[in-house]
Amino acid sequence: MRMEMAILTTVAQVKDARARLSGRVALVPTMGALHAGHRALVDKAQTLADHVIVSVFVNPAQFGPQEDFARYPRTLEADADLLRAAGVGFLYAPAVEDMYPEGSATTVHVGGHEQRLCGAFRPGHFNGVATVVAKLLLQTSPHVALFGEKDFQQLMVITRMVRDLEIPVDIVGVPTVREADGLALSSRNRYLSAADRRIAVQLYATLLRLRGLPAADVPAQGRELLLAAGFAKVDYVEVDAGRVLAAAWLGSTRLIDNVHV
Ligand code: AMP
Repeated sequence: MRMEMAILTTVAQVKDARARLSGRVALVPTMGALHAGHRALVDKAQTLADHVIVSVFVNPAQFGPQEDFARYPRTLEADADLLRAAGVGFLYAPAVEDMYPEGSATTVHVGGHEQRLCGAFRPGHFNGVATVVAKLLLQTSPHVALFGEKDFQQLMVITRMVRDLEIPVDIVGVPTVREADGLALSSRNRYLSAADRRIAVQLYATLLRLRGLPAADVPAQGRELLLAAGFAKVDYVEVDAGRVLAAAWLGSTRLIDNVHV
């Protein structure tokens, strides 16, 4: 008989539940508004561990003051339904005050990313990501933690952090799940108007076209192609770490994607 999914809402609860588990444990950190991309992480986690903990936490520390923290979609009931249907044992959804109690003063900084790709456009973003992921790893002591290649720089930052701090966990990357037309699934896609949704598909299509170009030509060519496709603003298009990566805006929605070269 399948156990009912436990919903844990405090650090104390997740630590207590973790301490009772035997066998291998996987952690899937998310900000919720779950979709088939998250589901792919969960499915992979289930092949690697006996127990899967999915965290849902919209982490204020990784949003800039002008970013979308307040309006980020929060759909915990639907998330719980998706995770129950997937057979997940533990949903961990702590409150901000519990994750960052009054007086919290320590952050994790992974060097070398603040000038690079998204790091250059989102000051402090990866400090927020690294800090919360370090906390989640310490709270849940998983054997393995899964991250999407969709957020490729995030995967690089977390891999570096775990290596440098010798956190005893395997970090596993999962390929990007896409809509039928190629658009990478994202919780932020729901912000797109119908017109912008039609333009959005050109992000992936452009990255595929750029794969054949010399790396030095990619930034200028990529920018030109994305602006011509209708993107309002292009933060970057670059070749780095064996990928072509881009971030571009449609209205007030920022989309990112990457493909390997
Ligand atoms: P988020 O909830 O957006 O913070 O994402 C939580 C995790 O799911 C991160 O490791 C993301 O990289 C991953 N993820 C988000 N979208 C996708 C996707 N379309 N395919 C694969 N993984 C994804």
